[in-house]
Amino acid sequence: MKKIFIETLGCKINQSESACILDEFLQNGFQKAVNMNEADYIIINTCTVTNRTDYKSRNLIKKALNLKSNNSNIKLIITGCYSQRFMDSLINENKDSSLLNSSMVDNIIDNNNKHLIYRIISKSSNYIDFQKAKDFKGFSEMKMNDVSDHSRAFLKIQDGCNFFCSYCAVPYARGNPRSRSVESIKKQIQLLLDNNYSEIVLSGINLGLYNDESNNNYDLSDLINDISKFESLNLIRLSSIEPQLFNQKLFDTIRQQNKICPHYHLPLQTGSDTLLKLHRRRYTVNEFQNTVTKLLEIRPLTALGFDVIVGLPGETDELFEETYNLLKNIDLTYLHIFIYSKRKYTLAAQMPNQVHGKIAKERSKLLVELSHNKKNQYINNLIKHKVTLTGVVETKNDEYYTSTSNRYIKAYFKNKSLTLQGKEFIALSPLEPFKDGILCEVIK
Ligand code: SF4
Repeated sequence: MKKIFIETLGCKINQSESACILDEFLQNGFQKAVNMNEADYIIINTCTVTNRTDYKSRNLIKKALNLKSNNSNIKLIITGCYSQRFMDSLINENKDSSLLNSSMVDNIIDNNNKHLIYRIISKSSNYIDFQKAKDFKGFSEMKMNDVSDHSRAFLKIQDGCNFFCSYCAVPYARGNPRSRSVESIKKQIQLLLDNNYSEIVLSGINLGLYNDESNNNYDLSDLINDISKFESLNLIRLSSIEPQLFNQKLFDTIRQQNKICPHYHLPLQTGSDTLLKLHRRRYTVNEFQNTVTKLLEIRPLTALGFDVIVGLPGETDELFEETYNLLKNIDLTYLHIFIYSKRKYTLAAQMPNQVHGKIAKERSKLLVELSHNKKNQYINNLIKHKVTLTGVVETKNDEYYTSTSNRYIKAYFKNKSLTLQGKEFIALSPLEPFKDGILCEVIK
């Protein structure tokens, strides 16, 4: 039996795409290899979000090439956002900067044809027209039966972005916004429910742009209202949404549909209006605050996570202080902090007033501490107000089961009466802070 191994870098979307690719190989008689060294087929699903992920992508490719130089029977396939952006240098047989000798790589497959990898390989074709991201059309659907590594299913319903924020390379790798049709989403959800999933994470590169054009401009709110009708679907979680894309219709939907997790992840990036404008973000600090206020009005103690980038070009001490003060005074649960990384071909890479890495690191440290304190505060509030947490059962570590609760705080609990397999929907009462989350007792 042939063995397949997929190395995946980057975001949840990439991970979910890899899970679908792997699933198709397994359905067709392949076995999953434990690591690259054992595999007959190696797929590297690369990422280009930072310099570091570029570097990691190149290293993984080098590692696979080494294996292939000792065993020419290995099939090596490269895909993902790094290869999408730097395809020209990847297939350039010449020499200095090129990592690859194209004869060593069986395929470099563009992001919009990832879903065809198994079909391309099984026809032993080693050629496919590589499309540039700007030419991507149509949503490439990936079927997902059982994402065996997860208790929650990440379901990609949207791809691409045309916002071109100054620092971001994503539009160059993912192309224009495209959405999966509602009919196809419903079929996919039914399949996941049949495989005992009861939490679906709706994901997209720019999720708030979801729009099934073939269906009278059917948007994210329409979709949530529709899929809430699936009886055995207990939790719907939304991945990151641009703050300005929360419109009144979406707020109303969130108010009406209690299957939606009270947990939102908003890419704030900076709390300075000057920097928001400079970096082509499409909202003001005030508008961001209004979104937060409305979400908390609808469901008090909603978990709110924000992405923040420190060291954006032009970020002076004063402008960073604006960000810091905003975050100190706003209700938030946690921060994802990124240090700005110069991305080739982006607007921000050409900007003056680049911030020294050392200063950016110091700013990042301050935010890490703030995030830590805010999360503890939030945990204490959940306990004080005895807020019931729901979630799906994950693994059992030592004597505790875990669940990433609807409010995104990790819940730990013991359960003597039932043997849980994972994926069961559960309700928990919070008792006390524990490890990185909360110790709970099972209600039902
Ligand atoms: S909205 Fe997000 S994905 Fe789109 S360009 Fe801006 S940062 Fe990148």
